[in-house]
Amino acid sequence: MTFNELSLHPSILQALEDQQYSKPTAIQAQAIPLILDKNDVLGCAQTGTGKTAAFAIPVIEHLIHDTKNTSGKRKITTLVVTPTRELAIQIGENFTAYAKYTNITNTVIFGGVPQGSQTNALRKGVDVLIATPGRLLDLMGQGFISLKDVKYFILDEADRMLDMGFINDIKKLLKQLPTKRQSLFFSATMPPSILALSQQILNQPKKVEVAPVSSTAQTIQQRLYTTNKPDKKNLLFHILKDPDIDQVLVFSRTKHGADRIVSNLRKKKLECAAIHGDKSQNQRQKALKNFKDGSINILVATDIAARGIDIDKLKYVINYDIPNEPETYVHRIGRCGRAGEEGISISLCEPEENAYVSSIEKLIKKTIPVVKDNPFPQTDKPMSKMEKKEAEKEKQQKKRAFFENKKKKEAARKGGGNRNRR
Ligand code: AMP
Repeated sequence: MTFNELSLHPSILQALEDQQYSKPTAIQAQAIPLILDKNDVLGCAQTGTGKTAAFAIPVIEHLIHDTKNTSGKRKITTLVVTPTRELAIQIGENFTAYAKYTNITNTVIFGGVPQGSQTNALRKGVDVLIATPGRLLDLMGQGFISLKDVKYFILDEADRMLDMGFINDIKKLLKQLPTKRQSLFFSATMPPSILALSQQILNQPKKVEVAPVSSTAQTIQQRLYTTNKPDKKNLLFHILKDPDIDQVLVFSRTKHGADRIVSNLRKKKLECAAIHGDKSQNQRQKALKNFKDGSINILVATDIAARGIDIDKLKYVINYDIPNEPETYVHRIGRCGRAGEEGISISLCEPEENAYVSSIEKLIKKTIPVVKDNPFPQTDKPMSKMEKKEAEKEKQQKKRAFFENKKKKEAARKGGGNRNRR
């Protein structure tokens, strides 16, 4: 199938040509005709499959026709809700690219930054609003946004949305949307909670599905290093010595862990940066830009932050830890080997994570090959229940001591400040 066969407006076809998209991806070939036919769509597809264009292209086609004879200030007729700011920005970029030869406008709003430039854009009027839930509800509450003209509603990455605790925000939002609308619902996984949510939103939806989350792309080579916890740091340096690894995304389960990896790598004079929820929007964008233009070749990210990263043809992904949710592993490695390119995923597994690897292998119905040439092989055993309990107790004690110490220091600082004033 070609884009020409989808009978799209010439201005869209021209924009797609500029993007050098030669043919629709599987999700696009399935979803675009259904959306053009005004169906509600339940899409099961993960990032990297071309799902953004799968909804953006037909919506732009609708908007070209809808706005043909309209004039005056644009009204929000399309609302895209997505969980992270990075995804929101990326979706905005997609809409801008595919609508570049039309007069369809979009704006992106998300939290964590001052609202001034966002409200200014809204005041001017816009066709497509791309938003994260919190800022959207906030600006609705302040009267900057009305959803009464929305005809096309897209909920993107619904599973991540629920993981991030946005369910109540979504419910509030649904109450404000016109009942007569076309709704498109995308999620990488379809557990019962997501299906239940989709039923509240969609009307007799058509289902489209590509690469169910249990399937890891054929083009991704998976490798597993089993090691001991204290050796992970050195194993990572060893792996990064491979001159083939010129651009790599390293995953860390926690923000703290991501910072620690970056600080260890910097000690070895390796250029890298971390992106996670505690970094400011500017810091994240700068890190991403540097990674994209090659000024740094190692980016360390937490799962949530990584969700929104759009990097073409990323070849390497490293799992510094093994995620305890097997689906997360599939999401992570989906970041490499995009659009038919070869990708390599490398996972570092400490004894406590052996069980997670088993769950992943069960989900993907594949055994991840273990790398034999490993200078830091796993020799430790996973902890017994008793040992785990002890370790957890110790961790909690350390945590308490850390916070108590912090409190004491703050109190001492304040006390000092008061004395100085006196
Ligand atoms: P997404 O799944 O929306 O995050 O898209 C993944 C990547 O695929 C993005 O970098 C898109 O620019 C790219 N892409 C989307 N559609 C196509 C297509 N038909 N041909 C080639 N690349 C595409």
